[in-house]
Order: sequence, then C-alpha cells, then structure tokens
Amino acid sequence: MSDAIVKVDIASARLPLKEPISDAKVLTGRQRPMTEVAFLFTTITTRDGHEGLGISYSKRAGGPAQFAHAVEVAPRLIGQDPSDIGKIWTSLVWAGASVGRSGAATQAIAAFDIALWDLKARRAGLPLAKLIGAERDAVATYNTSGGFLHTPIEQIRDNADRSLAAGIGGIKIKVGQPDWREDLRRVELIREHLGDTPLMVDANQQWDRAQANRMCRALDGMNLVWIEEPLDAYDAVGHAELAQRFDTPIASGEMLASIGEHLALIEHRSVDFIQPDAPRVGGITQFLKLLTIAEQRHLSLAPHFAMEIHVHLAATYPHTTWVEHFDWLEPLFNERLETRDGCLVVPDRPGLGLSLSDQARAWTVATTTVTG
Ligand SMILES: [Mg+2]
Repeated sequence: MSDAIVKVDIASARLPLKEPISDAKVLTGRQRPMTEVAFLFTTITTRDGHEGLGISYSKRAGGPAQFAHAVEVAPRLIGQDPSDIGKIWTSLVWAGASVGRSGAATQAIAAFDIALWDLKARRAGLPLAKLIGAERDAVATYNTSGGFLHTPIEQIRDNADRSLAAGIGGIKIKVGQPDWREDLRRVELIREHLGDTPLMVDANQQWDRAQANRMCRALDGMNLVWIEEPLDAYDAVGHAELAQRFDTPIASGEMLASIGEHLALIEHRSVDFIQPDAPRVGGITQFLKLLTIAEQRHLSLAPHFAMEIHVHLAATYPHTTWVEHFDWLEPLFNERLETRDGCLVVPDRPGLGLSLSDQARAWTVATTTVTG
C-alpha cells in the first residue's frame, strides 16, 4: 500500500524564555544569555489524509537558516511515498549536498524526518516508541532547567524540591563559575540537600584540559551520575583521558551535528553517557542508527533537550538511559508529558502524541506551504 505526500507546511516560531538563561558559555563571554529558542515546525499531509508533525530547533543563531533550507528543499517531498523515510532523507541531503551533511542543513531535514516518523506511527495507531520497538513504558528523567548558573543556590534547592515532588528522579546543576571554588561549594550544598538523589553536573565545554582534570578529581567522590561536557565538544581525546582516569561517568555529545561527529567520541572511548539530540543529528532516522552503534559499545544514553521526542527514542534503548526534563517546550503543545516515580511516562497517544497549540501559532513568525 503506497501513499503520496501532497502538502508540506513549514513554520518558524520563536519561543520566549521566562528569564534570560546563563550557563558556563555566558560566564566565559563566548555567548550572551539566551532569551528565546527558534523552532522549525513541519506538517506533512498525504493523499490518503495522513499527517505528521516534525520539529527542529536552534538556540541563539541559526533558526532563519534552518527555515530557509527547509523551504528550499521541501518540493522534493511532494509525490514521495511517506513510508520511504530513508530514501527521502537521502534525497534531501543530496539536494543540499553543497552545504554539507551536518549542521543547519541536516537540522532542517530533521524536521521532515521527524514528521515522517510521527506520520508512520500515527497511521499505525501506535506511540512512536512502540512503532520502533519499546524496551520500557517510562524512562528515568532528571531536571535541568532549575539549576542554571544565574540561579541563586537557595532557588536551586527550591527548584529541586519542586521537581522531585513532581515525580522527576534526578537533578542536574550547571558548573563552570569563574571561581572553581564556587562550583564546588554549590555542588556540595546541593548534594547535602538532596541526600542520595541522583545528581549530575554540566560544565558546558568551558574548562580547559588542566581545569577539567582538576575539577573531575575534586568531584569524583561526590557520587555524581555523570560530569557533562567537561571539555570542548570536539575534544574526543581529552574526554577519553578523563573517562579513563576517573570513576565518575563522563557525558557529552549534545553539540554534535551528525553520526560521524559522534563516532569520534565513540571510537576514542570518550564518554560513558552518549548525549545525542535527534533534531541536531538530522532526525530520528539518524538517531536510531547512532543508537545501534552506542548499544554495541554498551554506552549509557542521555539524549539532550526536546524530551517530547526523546522520551520515545530513549524508551527503545536497552541500556541505562536518562531523559532530560525541560518544561520550556510545554506551551508549544496541547498535550503534557506525565512524570511518575522518577520517570517520564511514554505517552500512549499515536505518533509523538503532540499537536501544536494556539500559543505556538501566536509565536510563529514565518510560514510557507508547498503543494504538488
Ligand atoms: Mg548540557
């Protein structure tokens, strides 16, 4: 049974954040505080009346480039069978081959790829996790949004209490203060406050190798689930040295924009937790291929951001996995994810189980529709 894509709607929306967000990249002066996130939404419609919703995003610059690339390649989708997801991904990548197989170009394609997976699962009447092949119905989840560097320690404690009371299982806080003693003080205070609750820290790539070594040694006895991005995202060798030297697991990979970039971390044995992001690596098709490699190396998994997509993908992974709980995206959708007993529950609605809210439409700044 074949079908054909007859319409592609593409929208660019800007989600404002409640307050400007700072991690270590801001404190080192490399980035400005983040005030909004740019989203790329695609809706694919078929001749037989099936529909899929796709999502990609960019923090700080890049949103307009993703939107422009999506608009440019979208006509290639018209007339294609929506089940031929691999063929469509290849065709879209070759349409933009001149601008590469990673970064903004493939992140634009990700929005189509995710829409096609959503469509396929909706058509089957299955949640995406079950279409792929679920290992579990709920995935351990931890909160990130309560522990940024601009947040005073008392507020982080309150945020953590609220997260745990809401059924979230772990807490991550940012590190990378100009004074490293302040980092240790904050981690110690939170560890003391949380007792044995799983705790992670995230340095957002801002330590050099010497500082990362020093900090990992100082943090190694604090029973952390992982130390995230202690070094530049592309320093596979530096990460590998830390992973071999210290007991605390090392996590990284959120910034990487293709399977190839992740392979460098995997082949150097740089990480214990791999942290891919489906929109950033080109979509669900690419993400699943990467998971197969990670599974064979017995890596743990902690996908970055976009829990609405990653709850489904992480539910299919056989080894240890944690999904990052960010409530930022909630106003974009009519549905809410449920947290229970430390886990994010895989929605039982077909597909991703998401529909765009009126608020998402109100935040939309550009739209294009392509038809046959
Ligand atoms: Mg991170």
